[in-house]
Amino acid sequence: MSTETSNAQPSAPQSGGTPVIRFEDVEKKFGETTVLSDLNFDVAPGERVTLIGPSGSGKTTILRLVMTLEHLTGGYIWINGQPLTHDRRNNQRVELRPKEVAKTRKKIGMVFQHFNLFPNMTVLENITEAPIHVLGRDKKQANDRAHELLDQVGLGDRSGARPSQLSGGQKQRVAIARALAMDPEILLLDEVTSALDPELVGEVLGVLRNVAEDTDISMLIVTHEMQFARDVSHKVMMFDGGQILEQGKPDDLLSNPQHKRTQRFLESIL
Ligand code: ADP
Repeated sequence: MSTETSNAQPSAPQSGGTPVIRFEDVEKKFGETTVLSDLNFDVAPGERVTLIGPSGSGKTTILRLVMTLEHLTGGYIWINGQPLTHDRRNNQRVELRPKEVAKTRKKIGMVFQHFNLFPNMTVLENITEAPIHVLGRDKKQANDRAHELLDQVGLGDRSGARPSQLSGGQKQRVAIARALAMDPEILLLDEVTSALDPELVGEVLGVLRNVAEDTDISMLIVTHEMQFARDVSHKVMMFDGGQILEQGKPDDLLSNPQHKRTQRFLESIL
């Protein structure tokens, strides 16, 4: 497992064609409070996009909308050209049937700040639960894949452990393996190292660097780890007040931000 950083920027995936995620005029209100408005951007297949910005600027809400943990109050999110929660037949907003949403949802994996492992299951069971019960894989096939993924995240010897027996970094590596076990096309990473002791951050970012290098999974990443953002992202977007303030290649935006607000934000997290 490599935790080394590199100066090489990832080269951008081919653009053109159907975006894997399209945000179209997305709006999200909680009650009377507007958290996101007029949000428009695309994620290309294989593209890794990092969202940065001050606390409360709406970054986590964006990931939760894609994961259908929150519902839109306006606009559309399209996954591979399919509407996530609404269709626009006859220009009407039509709620999709749960089955249609579930089919799209299977393509999306998420890793949370607080791991969210099932405490009463072993590491292996945590990873095989959804492949068996959601994808209908047989147990042997799911177990084989889980062991392979545990080896990849450096936890080949912990398959029988319970989450309570693991360090935070180990729990997060299990959560990454669990998300990958669903063979996602899209991986959402929500401040996955924020709850970790500083000495455990490197092992988790090392695993994610390998995932970025070895797969073509599209990623939406929320992180305060700017070196990681620089190393793995094709694009960084700075959010403020629920809107995109500026966006660009990581080296351009992080080394040479155009907005004072971005400069101040980057200085504040150094
Ligand atoms: P960030 O990830 O950039 O810190 P969030 O997306 O978590 O921002 O939050 C954006 C805003 O939405 C914040 O003001 C937050 O208080 C509000 N918010 C998030 N979730 C809820 C909720 N379930 N109910 C009410 N307000 C919420």
